[in-house]
Amino acid sequence: MDKANNHPYDELLAAYAAGSLPLSQALCVSAHLEHCVACGQKLQNLNRVGSQLMQQLKPAAASQQLKQRLLDSLDDLTDAASQREASKVDPAVPRCLRQFIDHNYDDLPWKRVSADIHSVELCRDSNGAKVELLKIKPGGSATTHTHLGDEYTVILEGSFSDEAGLYRQGDFMVKTAADRHTPVATKDRVCICLAVTEGPIQFTGFISRLLNPFIRRSYA
Ligand SMILES: [Zn+2]
Repeated sequence: MDKANNHPYDELLAAYAAGSLPLSQALCVSAHLEHCVACGQKLQNLNRVGSQLMQQLKPAAASQQLKQRLLDSLDDLTDAASQREASKVDPAVPRCLRQFIDHNYDDLPWKRVSADIHSVELCRDSNGAKVELLKIKPGGSATTHTHLGDEYTVILEGSFSDEAGLYRQGDFMVKTAADRHTPVATKDRVCICLAVTEGPIQFTGFISRLLNPFIRRSYA
C-alpha cells in the first residue's frame, strides 16, 4: 500500500488542503494520497491547522469561493465515483479517476503515441492542462523529452526509471520546463501513469522530433 518514495512537496499539499489547486493537479495529489499514508497524515494535520486558522481569521470572500468551487468539483467526482463503485470498476483504479473509467484500464480508447507508448485523454482542466493516462510497454522508453510547462506524474501501475532514479506505484513527481528526462518502464510489466501537462511535451531526440508536430496538434 505505502510504497511511494516521491511525494508532493509541502506547498502543493497545503494548496490541496486549502482547496486552491487546479482540478488537474488536485487529481494527481488525490491519486497519490490513495497510495501514501504519510501524506494522508500530513494532510490531516494541515486540515486541523487550517480549521484552527479559519476560526481565528475572517477569510477573504474570494478564497472562500475558490475553496467552495474545488470542493464542489471534488464532490462531483466523489458522487460519480461512488455511482461507479456500485458497478464494476477495477479496485486498482484510484477512486478520484473512476468517473473516467467504466471497468478497467484495458477498456480505454488508447491511442498510439509511439511504438512504446499509448495515451488516453481523461479531461482538460479549465486552465487548459491536459489530464491523461500514459501506458508504457515493459522496457519501453518515453524517449528524451522536455515540456513547455510543468508536468505532473503519478505512477498507477508498474514502475519506471529515469536519470534521477526508480519510481514505483504511488510515486508523485513534478518536472518543470527546464527538466529533460528519459523515462524507461521496467521490463517486468506495463507501466501506467496519470500525467498532467500544462503544455505539450517536446521530444528532443532526433527521430522523435518528427513526433512533435503531432503532439502539438493534439493540444489544438
Ligand atoms: Zn506521499
